This record gives sequence, C-alpha cells and structure tokens, in this order.
Amino acid sequence: MAIPQSFIQELLNRTDVVEVVGRYVQLKKGGANYMGLCPFHGEKSPSFSVSPTKQFFHCFGCGKNGNAIGFLMEHGGMSFIEAVKDLAQSYGLQVPEDEADPAERQRAQQQRQRQATLNDVLEKAGESYRKNLKTSPPAVTYLKGRGLSGEIAKQFGLGYAPDGWRNLASVFSDYQDALLVEAGLVIVNAEDGAQEKRYDRFRDRIMFPIRNVKGECIGFGGRVLGEGTPKYLNSPETPVFSKGRELYGLFEARQALREAGYVLVTEGYMDVVALAQLGFPNAVATLGTACTTDHVQKLFRFTDSVVFSFDGDAAGRRAARKALDGALPFASDTRNVKFLFLPSEHDPDSFVRAHGTDAFSRMVSDATPLSRFVMEVAREGCDLDSAEGRAMLASQAKPLWLAMPEGVLKTQMLNELADVVGIGQHELQRLWQNATQTGKAALSASAPQGKRNHPTTPSSWSRATPPKPTFMGTPMRSKAPTRRDRALQILFADMLQWDTLSGHQHSLLLEMPAPYSELLSWLNQQWLENGVQSLAALREGLRGHAHEAVVSRLIDDAPADIDSDAGELQSILAALEIEQLSETIGALTQRMGSDPSAYERIKQLNARLAVLKNTRRV
Ligand SMILES: [Zn+2]
Repeated sequence: MAIPQSFIQELLNRTDVVEVVGRYVQLKKGGANYMGLCPFHGEKSPSFSVSPTKQFFHCFGCGKNGNAIGFLMEHGGMSFIEAVKDLAQSYGLQVPEDEADPAERQRAQQQRQRQATLNDVLEKAGESYRKNLKTSPPAVTYLKGRGLSGEIAKQFGLGYAPDGWRNLASVFSDYQDALLVEAGLVIVNAEDGAQEKRYDRFRDRIMFPIRNVKGECIGFGGRVLGEGTPKYLNSPETPVFSKGRELYGLFEARQALREAGYVLVTEGYMDVVALAQLGFPNAVATLGTACTTDHVQKLFRFTDSVVFSFDGDAAGRRAARKALDGALPFASDTRNVKFLFLPSEHDPDSFVRAHGTDAFSRMVSDATPLSRFVMEVAREGCDLDSAEGRAMLASQAKPLWLAMPEGVLKTQMLNELADVVGIGQHELQRLWQNATQTGKAALSASAPQGKRNHPTTPSSWSRATPPKPTFMGTPMRSKAPTRRDRALQILFADMLQWDTLSGHQHSLLLEMPAPYSELLSWLNQQWLENGVQSLAALREGLRGHAHEAVVSRLIDDAPADIDSDAGELQSILAALEIEQLSETIGALTQRMGSDPSAYERIKQLNARLAVLKNTRRV
C-alpha cells in the first residue's frame, strides 16, 4: 500500500512529536527542547532530546533520531502504516484509501494524473479565451472603454469566453471528459428523468486567469460585458483552486511588491488590472470572499506591509472588519497593516482616474493604521461618558487585543485602551489575561506569525543539551561542511530563518550553484505554498527529490550538529555577498579600459564591500 507523500507531509505538519514521545517518555522542558531518559538505551541522566521546532527527537547517547512516525515504529514496534494510522487517528485525519489491490492502485494512480493535468486543461482553455479576445470587437471595445491597454491585457492574460453554450467543445477533443467538469469549466445539469445537459460555465464574459504563486493557471474569474448577472463569476472550488487561500494578481505582482514595499489588497480583479495600468502594479484582490488569515499569511511572505483598500460604504466597512480579524494575529512589531477607505462613490480605479496617482498615493500613506482601526471598532456604539459605555468598549476590545501577537505594539495598545477605559494598564491586563489563562497557550501556539507548528520560538538545539559526546567508533563526517553546506543545514533545520531574510538575501542564496540553488528554490516554493514547516515535514516533502541525498548527507547524518545561533546565517550571507562582489569587481576591472562606466560601478561596489567587511569583523 502506498500512502501519498503529501498526506504524510500534512500529517507531520500537524503532529507534535513532543506530545507523541511524551506518551511514553517523561519529558522535561530544558531551554528550547525537551529532555528525558532515552527509551532506546539504558541511562541514568537524560541525553534524549526532543525538538518542537524541528519535530525531531535525538539521543546524544546512542545516536537514535527521527520524527514522530519513526518514534512510534522504533519504540512502539509499529509498522510504518500502523504508525501513520495511529497518528492520523489522534489528529482526526483520514488516511487516504488503502490501495492494496492492483486495480485500486491503478485507479488511484489515474486520479493523481488527472489532478496533475487539471492545470494543463485550464491553461489550454485560457489560451483559447485569449485567442477569442483578438477576434471579438465588443470585448476589445469593453476593455478599451475601461481604459486598459493591449499591453496590460496581455500581461494579465485576459481573454474572452464567447456567447454560446458549447464553445469549449471546439477546444477540447472530448467534451464529455470528466476533467472539464472537475476543472470547473463545464457544468453538468442532470434534472430528474431528463437527459443530462453539458454546457460551458463561462459565456460572453471577459476572462481573468487566476494563477497560483508558481504561475500555473488554477481557475478563472469572468466579468459580464454588459449588465447581465452575476456581474462576476469565479471558478468553483476544485482540487487546484481554493478561494479562501488564493489571491488574484499575486503572481503578476511579485516583483512590484518588492519595489513598492507594500501590497494593496483590493476587492476585485478589475481593480487589480486597472491599478496596474495606472501605475500601481502592486495590487492583488481576494476572489469574492472576505480576506482570511490564510490570505494575510500568504501576503506576509511577500512583503511586510499590507494596505487593505475598501469602498467607503457600509459593505466596505464590514469587509474591513473581517480583514482586521484576518490580520490581527500577524500584526507583529515588524509588520505594518493599514486600512484605506475610499470616498463612497469611488472604487480604486475611478478614484485614480478622477484624482490622479499622487492623490491616491497620499490616500495610501494616510490610510488608517491597524492600531487606530482597532480603537474605532472597539469604540463602536459605546457612550464613553458613562462607566457602562467604557466597560462595553473594554469588552469589545478584548478579543481584538488578545488576537495580537506579543510585542511592543500590543503593549502600546493596552496602554491606550486602559487610558480610554479609565483603569490602570496592569488591572486591565490582569482582567483580560486571567479570564483566558487556559486559552492562552493554544492562542500563542497557533496565531502569532502564522507558524503552524512552532509552539516555542526556535533557538539552538544544543543549548538545552549536554556537551556533545564524541560518538566513539562512529565515523562522523568525512569533511567539514562548507559555507554553502552550512547555509543549507541551517535553513532546512530552522525554516523560520528563511522567513526572516530579505528579498535580496533570498536571491543571493537562490543564486548559489547547484544543487544548493535547486534545494533552496524547492524550500522557497514550500514556504510560499505552506509557510514555515518543521524539518520533519520538509524531509517528507523532499522524498524522491533529485537532490534528496544531499540533504540526507548534510542533515540526517549529523542531526546534532545542525544548530546555529542567530548570527551565523547572517555572517554566512555576508561572506557569500563579499565573494560575489569580489568576483564582479574582478570582472569589471578587466573591462575598465573599454567601459567608462565600470570605474563608477567599481567604486560603488567597493563601498558596499567595505561595509560588509566591517560588519563581519564586529
Ligand atoms: Zn539513546
């Protein structure tokens, strides 16, 4: 039987190895890790360590190590399948169907292939929509009427689904193919008794392809040309498309987010395309749903600053309230969240056209900061002149404040709220935190930063462990790891560090030679899709990867040696940049005779080099 690897990865993402090991071994918290007496060899003082961040256990005495599944196999004497089932049961997951008999297995195999081809099907449909646009004057006229250039239409891959019930029948050789239904392109309508009817979902609509962060087409949004309803129609939920997680325009905006330094979250795909045309290519949109925590978490992987834009009416206000709920768990001290309310007669597109880009930029910088919006929401309907009104404000503010991650911003909010309520800050905190003493641990484990599986802040593994034994008789490593090896070890062992690097540092690492670049770009992809994961989950996801062996050699063979302090990666990055700069300067020097601009450039690079060398010395 084969259990899909993606399921194992998901399972390990949800599992807490500390809890699993804790069922059999008495563990005590020591620093970042938990220590206990090794169940695999006899000992009197604990050298068995369990890391909640890595989701691995490791014995410094006998060298046994592994993830939660491995522990159950090794200690509980279970088979792999039994261990997976045991874990799945305790986390309420259904293990995908047994595929024991060959027919079953073949069916499952076909299923997987079908899913992989969904993107191809959608891509093909998108191509035909694009072709149709060129030969449909009304659609072109409509887009021009909205002020869009051909260039922007091309950049976003806009197309047109013609009127008529079965246009896709001329695009796909088999209109009966279930894949077309699964992809959300074709609707099957089987009324009682009547013969089944099949027809295209999108008819006479401007088509906006929705892409995932890899750039693959995962669905469509369609807008009517005239006054028909519904005005906007999206692909249904499919195996490749989930409204609650995807953001329209994110793939197209990636570069612009870095340059603008913030993302503008709008309410529709027309806003995104129009804003790109008007000089704001850093906009994205939710797809007919309120902004969820999944959305916000995804955005914060691309930028530290999010500006939500809403129409100034009551519906906009309600949507803003929901976005606030989505954003609060991520409102850490290093992030910036703002809410922009447009005048009620405008959407972003019409506002920029009426008042110009400068006016819109000013609106963005003057947008309401999260802290002020929290106060506004808390204050709603409260008469602050009465004790009752102030108490009501406190009760409205409490869930908002509790949802925030710990930090200076949260403390400041407490001050401000206590002031308005008219009681002492400590008293307010005591009231709020006593009431939620029990819920608090769960909250801090799940909410802040959106780190799913990191109940403690990551820090060194070795800090909590006794001095490393020499592993007598066991040959350790054949050679010391290189700087690149170390970078790879650190980032896989503690993925949170990847999360904290700048875009420039990411590219520096992604430009390393193979296999490092391949492995880190795989890691980056994991990060974009699933966020920060434990080493155990990463190792599972990497199974079968062309360079899996490299990671095994660097990490699995020496799990005790992969810790780092906070500064190590920074120092490696500085060294890598110095190396890169020196090479560039060398190449430029060769060209100085023929290229007059080379001298200026060398001067700049040398200045940067000096800064880097200085920081490294400190
Ligand atoms: Zn041991």
